[in-house]
Amino acid sequence: MHTIDVIVPCYNESELVHVFYRETTKITNKIKNYSFRFLFIDDGSKDDTLQQLIKLASEHSDAKYISFSRNFGKEAGMYAGLKYSNADYVIIMDADLQHPPELIPKMVEGIEEGYDCVAARRTDRKGEARIRSFFSRQFYKIINKMTDKIELVQGAVDYRIMSRQMVDAVLSLSESQRFSKGIFEWVGFHKKWLPYENVERTIGTTKWSFKSLFKYAIDGITAFSVAPLRMVTGFGFFISLIAFIYIIVTLVQTLIFGIAVPGYVTTLSAVLFLGGIIEFSIGVVGEYLGHIYIETKNRPLFITRLTNINDELSDEKSERIESYGKL
Ligand code: UDP
Ligand code: MG
Repeated sequence: MHTIDVIVPCYNESELVHVFYRETTKITNKIKNYSFRFLFIDDGSKDDTLQQLIKLASEHSDAKYISFSRNFGKEAGMYAGLKYSNADYVIIMDADLQHPPELIPKMVEGIEEGYDCVAARRTDRKGEARIRSFFSRQFYKIINKMTDKIELVQGAVDYRIMSRQMVDAVLSLSESQRFSKGIFEWVGFHKKWLPYENVERTIGTTKWSFKSLFKYAIDGITAFSVAPLRMVTGFGFFISLIAFIYIIVTLVQTLIFGIAVPGYVTTLSAVLFLGGIIEFSIGVVGEYLGHIYIETKNRPLFITRLTNINDELSDEKSERIESYGKL
């Protein structure tokens, strides 16, 4: 009998915990020859997600939780799930049922066909703001142009099943600023895509703001490509070339026609333009420097406050936690 761990990052999803478990187990219970276990990652939720998880775990022995000491982000949640998992296969899934559980049997089929990974891909962006879709498309275009090792697929989501071998490969990339979309591609392996229609979130709200998406895009690009740095070099070279030509032209003009009328506008525009380019370039270099800085600190990606995996939880501690939740 093969084991499958379903990793579910949860941040403020208290209304969804039980619904998710009910809907998903309806599907997984029908799959023979595999035993499922659910690893919920409570990513420092501010509502009572943790209490709901503790309750769920007391009712169902296949429900496990890992609760973080604060919010570390979905990337850290997924990483923790993969770290804690010891199953033959791992499924990563959102708690909000936007990742249809109906795909799980097809994922298992894909694994049986010999694939290392079966990943879901949205075929549309129904219910999403147009401007967001637009920027998202541009992001894929840019990142795919800038990277040569990876090819990100439009609409690919984190919802996927992976073999133990692939999970170990994903974990071997131990960078603390994780961009999983890129990491899943970078490690390679044989992958099958499962297209599905976008499902709108019915309960709770999305945790993404436009600002956080923008930051995510920048982090994704800097994590997998040094093209922006090369672009800065290119800029510098190009501007020097123009300046050189300009100097020659002015020199020749001066020699032939004498001193020209002082070009106030030309000087000012050149200074401002160059100032802008220099600031921009320092910014680009700074982005990378920032990443190096954080990476060298080598801090843990997440801190666990409480978990029932391996049933380490003593009675005393669980009592304390239950009262904590009621505060
Ligand atoms: N999530 C998380 N930590 C965070 C933000 C989100 O674990 O800091 C979880 C969230 O609970 C959900 C999943 O990541 O299960 C996807 O989040 P969301 O639905 O907000 O993203 P969207 O579907 O809009 O891309
Ligand atoms: Mg969602």
